[in-house]
Amino acid sequence: MIFLSYIIEFKLIMSLIPKIKRCPCCDAISFIKINGVQQENSFESLSEWNLKKTYSCRKCSVELGLFSKNDGVEKLVWLDFIKCEEIFYKKLVKLHKIKEKNKENEKKYYKTLDDIRKINNEIHVSKVKLGIKFRLEHKGLSLRHSLS
Ligand SMILES: [Zn+2]
Repeated sequence: MIFLSYIIEFKLIMSLIPKIKRCPCCDAISFIKINGVQQENSFESLSEWNLKKTYSCRKCSVELGLFSKNDGVEKLVWLDFIKCEEIFYKKLVKLHKIKEKNKENEKKYYKTLDDIRKINNEIHVSKVKLGIKFRLEHKGLSLRHSLS
């Protein structure tokens, strides 16, 4: 019983201590407080993750999302970057299924593969554009986030 109350107390204390997070875009450190209330996660490509908090970086002001899995693994995501993929997520999942189903049908297989390639190109272009926008808006600040 005493042990249990220690665990509860420990969890409470941990939730009060701000987490130290580094911005994936500009490398600035932010102290994030998480109140334990889970936010609605509308990102289909991250549906296996829980959205713990969204906030803007205090230095470069990009919108970031802190996601976690039930085992405690966390990742900090540049939301505009993920949005480039989100638009095509459902379509890509569908195309990959079609591709797998048509391994014997060469014509359909390669046509689907080509469609996938086109979408991936489009995603890549929108990510590169996002990188250019970041650099234009933050002169003198180098973008640390990979664009691939
Ligand atoms: Zn930043």
